[in-house]
Amino acid sequence: MNKNGRAFIVSGPSGVGKSTVLGEVFRHYTNYYFSVSATTRAPRPGERDGVEYFFITQEQFDEMVEKGQFLEHARYAKCSYGTPRAPVEAKLAQGVDVFLDIEVQGARQIKAAMPEAVSIFIAPPSVEALEARLRGRATDSEEKIRLRLETAKNELSEAVHYDHVVVNDDYKRAASQLLAIIQNA
Ligand code: ADP
Ligand code: 5GP
Repeated sequence: MNKNGRAFIVSGPSGVGKSTVLGEVFRHYTNYYFSVSATTRAPRPGERDGVEYFFITQEQFDEMVEKGQFLEHARYAKCSYGTPRAPVEAKLAQGVDVFLDIEVQGARQIKAAMPEAVSIFIAPPSVEALEARLRGRATDSEEKIRLRLETAKNELSEAVHYDHVVVNDDYKRAASQLLAIIQNA
């Protein structure tokens, strides 16, 4: 009988380095599926539809919610985000590990539905470092940066509910810590 894949939830404030650390992990760990979320936010320069996100309208999003097509969904910084259910369930059934880069409300929903999912919170070394990274990435307007920093305060208080907390000081060190968690899960 095939063994099911494992679900890994990776959360942390916007700009903490989740994509950077996961990118490094995936250089060393290749049998995985990275869940591509749907969102109503506008693409950043360089983001491609169907790669970083499925960029959809609020009407399309609401229709997917109605049809039960999301595994979880949440509002974040005035936009909607959701994990399409079908590909995640298919990959897990095929024995492939699935990674979800989602915020804290979505993580709670996944943990409630799938208690065996492994949750990892990526934390910044300091709030100042987080702000510097958000500004350094230079992809968001001042208003969006402020919204993300405001949200970060609440997100950081959620870290205690996660199975693991990884501080992203040096991204390669954080990636090897994450790899160890994956290998021992
Ligand atoms: P997230 O996916 O969590 O929103 P990103 O991976 O886009 O964050 O990283 C945000 C910014 O911070 C990027 O410009 C990235 O290069 C930078 N960054 C990521 N990890 C580190 C680190 N350990 N030290 C310094 N800068 C980092
Ligand atoms: P960003 O707009 O910076 O790409 O993402 C904002 C936040 O939304 C991040 O914390 C990211 O993890 C989260 N996010 C991305 N996709 C999803 C999703 O499908 N569901 C939920 N709940 N959060 C998501």
